[in-house]
Amino acid sequence: MKIAILSRNKKLYSTSRLVEAAKQRGHEVQVIDVLRCYMNIGANNLTIHLRGQALEGFDAVIPRIGASVTFYGTAVLRQFEMMGIYPLNESVAITRSRDKLRSMQLLSRKGVGIPETGFANKPGDIKDLIDLVGGPPLVIKLLEGTQGIGVVLAETQKASESVIEGFMGVQAEILIQEFVKEAKGADIRCLCVGNKVVAAMKRQGAPGEFRSNLHRGGTAELVKITPQERATAVKAAKTMGLNVCGVDLLRSANGPVVMEVNSSPGLEGIEGASGKDIAGMMIEFIEKNAKVGKTRTRGKG
Ligand code: ADP
Ligand code: MG
Repeated sequence: MKIAILSRNKKLYSTSRLVEAAKQRGHEVQVIDVLRCYMNIGANNLTIHLRGQALEGFDAVIPRIGASVTFYGTAVLRQFEMMGIYPLNESVAITRSRDKLRSMQLLSRKGVGIPETGFANKPGDIKDLIDLVGGPPLVIKLLEGTQGIGVVLAETQKASESVIEGFMGVQAEILIQEFVKEAKGADIRCLCVGNKVVAAMKRQGAPGEFRSNLHRGGTAELVKITPQERATAVKAAKTMGLNVCGVDLLRSANGPVVMEVNSSPGLEGIEGASGKDIAGMMIEFIEKNAKVGKTRTRGKG
């Protein structure tokens, strides 16, 4: 097969592992910087170009689209899909999961456990909004934050009110969440490939830190997950429509709750903790599923 990897940097661990795994299995692979691609959308004619050349002959595309390039990255991916090329994750599913509020709404509708969550634009009554999610301590999050930046813990009523007012004063979109303190600064990352959890790790925040992000100094270790946690992660992946994703769970007193579903999960932490060839599993999934034109997006948008 000829596989395109949409990534801005071929030296990144995840990208280079995917290149290696694809080559090992005898595939041809090209890393493509989405921002350098340009597209032609004509009457019944869709093409993608890079440095004066039309990109042709691909069987599958692996999107590794960073949060900061979501809009243009998913547009290029959609162009691949409309040309009938199989995407490991579909553009609509990536867009869906990048929006934390939309994700929470979808997960709630499907009965997947989530932390009690509130959202507002300009609430006439901030106190009522705070009550709605159970009162302080609260976690307040920027809707499109990533790597733990823009996630704040407000421990008291006063702190909650002033942080909410502050974010709203600068027109930031936020969501307000019950603080799951039983999680003790740890979360569980479940790596899903095609409706299966293939590896799981527990990430523990640095001492005194409630955010477990590895980018914030958290550490990762292998963890055994319960059947309920496994089922929750799989259902979250299915709800988002993602073939490959990282589902982040908190161990709450009421069972597992999903915090977010990441459509481009990093491979370094999880391969390191589990010793598994996750990149290989992703390529294998493509081998089993990629058929020309097999994308729900094709012709539907
Ligand atoms: P980001 O996209 O920036 O990673 P997250 O929603 O994943 O944002 O939050 C970052 C970290 O903060 C999580 O990994 C978790 O450790 C902690 N956290 C987030 N929400 C909650 C919550 N409701 N209760 C307890 N801890 C939370
Ligand atoms: Mg996170």
